[in-house]
Amino acid sequence: MYFIDPHIHMVSRTTDDYQAMRAAGIVAVIEPAFWLGQPRTEAGSFKDYFSTLIGWERFRASQFGIKHYCTMGLNSKEANNEALAEQVMELLPLFAGKEGVVAIGEIGYDDQTAAEDKYFRLQIELALQFNLPVMVHTPHRDKINGTIRSMDVLEEHGIPPHMVVIDHNNEETVKHVLDRGYWTAFTIYPNTKMGNERMVEIVKKYGSERIIVDSSADWGVSDPLSVPKTAALMLERGIAKEDVHLTCYKNALTAYSQSGQMKEDDWKKEMIVEQSALYDGSGVLRGQEAQVVSFSNIVDN
Ligand SMILES: [Zn+2]
Repeated sequence: MYFIDPHIHMVSRTTDDYQAMRAAGIVAVIEPAFWLGQPRTEAGSFKDYFSTLIGWERFRASQFGIKHYCTMGLNSKEANNEALAEQVMELLPLFAGKEGVVAIGEIGYDDQTAAEDKYFRLQIELALQFNLPVMVHTPHRDKINGTIRSMDVLEEHGIPPHMVVIDHNNEETVKHVLDRGYWTAFTIYPNTKMGNERMVEIVKKYGSERIIVDSSADWGVSDPLSVPKTAALMLERGIAKEDVHLTCYKNALTAYSQSGQMKEDDWKKEMIVEQSALYDGSGVLRGQEAQVVSFSNIVDN
């Protein structure tokens, strides 16, 4: 089977991860713009980070046979630095229309402050202006209220639910989000929060319609193989292959292809990787012999 990880922060991951992901069947990833751990103090740091997402990281993924897409946005945590947030808002329109940008995100609430609310709303408007989907980060604290509030605000701005992926759901939020018509994504964290055993139970209970599985792997304790591992567990527990395909591949493709920037043909044809390739003078090899590697077509999806 083949997989899409529609929420993963590859700038924090290694080349070993890329190799393991491709070997496990991940053919495409979406990297949402997010917080980097270290708070940024200059708009230029955002500019270079956004450029990395559409440039170097896209190239790096391609060297391992993975198609890389991204989302653009000011994350909720850094929205609280208002002086900087204002400057980031001026940068975003310059990046939102670039090739491979499939949504505005991840945006939403962290501590549910007034500043977070302000920039969440401004970025929903930006998404409407660019006709892009929105990827919503729901807060890890006070999740249920933060999730409901996010949907209320989205509805106030009139963005249709089919254009919005609400992420980081759990058993408490899933029904609310499905009932209101949104794409309902789950981040699978090893050991804590949302584990893959719990994900299996959710798919058993709610089915596969509009449900999306992702890893959200970043610089914290996380697993870049969460999607294929969860898929394997679903199959082992008797969930139909078609439902695994929908939750671990197809639904993400349907949601984000609404951007016009992502289509199955991008990876369905054979991918030929020239390992000697450079991006702006830099490559991924360190003295290893450059080869031409072919990743074969998808046959079983
Ligand atoms: Zn994230």
